[in-house]
Amino acid sequence: MKLHEYQSKQIFAKYGVPIPKGRVAATAGEAKSIAEELGGRVVIKAQVLVGGRGKAGGVQLAKDATEAEQIASRILAMEIKGLPVRKVLIDEAAAIETEIYFSITNDRNARKPVMIASAAGGVEIEDVAAKTPEKIVKIHIDPLLGLRDYQARDVAAFIDLPRDYWKDFGKIAAGLWRVYTEQDATLAEINPLVITKDKRIMALDGKMLIDDNALYRHPDLADMRDVDEEAPSEAEARKYGLTYIKLDGNIGCMVNGAGLAMTSMDIVKLFGGEPANFLDIGGGAAADKVAAAMRIILADQNVRAILLNIFGGITRCDEVARGILEATKAIQPKAPMVVRLVGTNAEEGRRLLSDANMTTADTLVDAAKKAVAAAKVAVA
Ligand code: GDP
Ligand code: MN
Repeated sequence: MKLHEYQSKQIFAKYGVPIPKGRVAATAGEAKSIAEELGGRVVIKAQVLVGGRGKAGGVQLAKDATEAEQIASRILAMEIKGLPVRKVLIDEAAAIETEIYFSITNDRNARKPVMIASAAGGVEIEDVAAKTPEKIVKIHIDPLLGLRDYQARDVAAFIDLPRDYWKDFGKIAAGLWRVYTEQDATLAEINPLVITKDKRIMALDGKMLIDDNALYRHPDLADMRDVDEEAPSEAEARKYGLTYIKLDGNIGCMVNGAGLAMTSMDIVKLFGGEPANFLDIGGGAAADKVAAAMRIILADQNVRAILLNIFGGITRCDEVARGILEATKAIQPKAPMVVRLVGTNAEEGRRLLSDANMTTADTLVDAAKKAVAAAKVAVA
């Protein structure tokens, strides 16, 4: 789950990371009164769950409250990378001297958290990473030992941070580490962390990704979820307890079990197809769940064929087949479907599906080949 900038920064502040004074507004009028409270010179920032807002015109400075109102009304009418702006953050403007990139995230390959920093922070950080990776430092953190003080000092030295700021930087690094671990974040990012002309160091921007599987122990964070900003299909999937991730291919995949789903996608690719999604329907395969999954898959305009790969363990295959038939009767999908059922009562399940003129397959390889072929025919 992604948090908005204003939400991330409020969490940072609780952990001792300095942030500018500011508040969120939903109307230009509110933006004006917040700007007045803050003394006039403010920055108006679109709150959308994508990066690169600055370059898209979603971050603008105002010299007084009247200008803040005008800018806020323009930004509130914007759409950034397809997302309508519904809120703006009004922060007191900072006079920036230096922009630093600083984050903590998961390094899956190293199986450890990693702290990443660069003196070349700001809106061009992707360019820096691509063209001059030597300007970026990465230091792994032992999850059991936690962030050590010397590691924060190593970062400070690498980014040539003036000595005067080392103590504050150490507190910020320790704070961000606690944010990352205690909030079950997979990313806690400050870009830019700035040094201001009046010699303060603070987080001007904030971004957090929270591990969805840990949300059960963070009800306060779960409440922060902005459903308006999510793809409707993902919100719908969550409602039915389905794990759905949209991808760019044209073969819809409906599978029970995350590992089996990954395998199914790999096999589809092996035979020249591209999966349209990851979808784990989880345990059981009640008709309403299958139907919801089918609706979600079919809502994707790219889908040309659907591959169902179901292992019937506790749920018997004949029950699954009945669920599939009930769901297809209700939805009447136009995309061809290939079903591979294996497990308890598989033969009975396959027979039910064949009787209803559905394509069945005995093995995953067979199913993937048939789905890839069906998608090609459907395109032509
Ligand atoms: P992003 O583009 O979505 O990452 O949004 P940011 O919050 O990082 O803002 C983009 C850029 O706007 C920053 O890198 C700064 O250069 C600039 N910016 C943001 N806030 C201020 C501010 O208070 N004062 C000044 N002078 N520039 C700002
Ligand atoms: Mn930023």
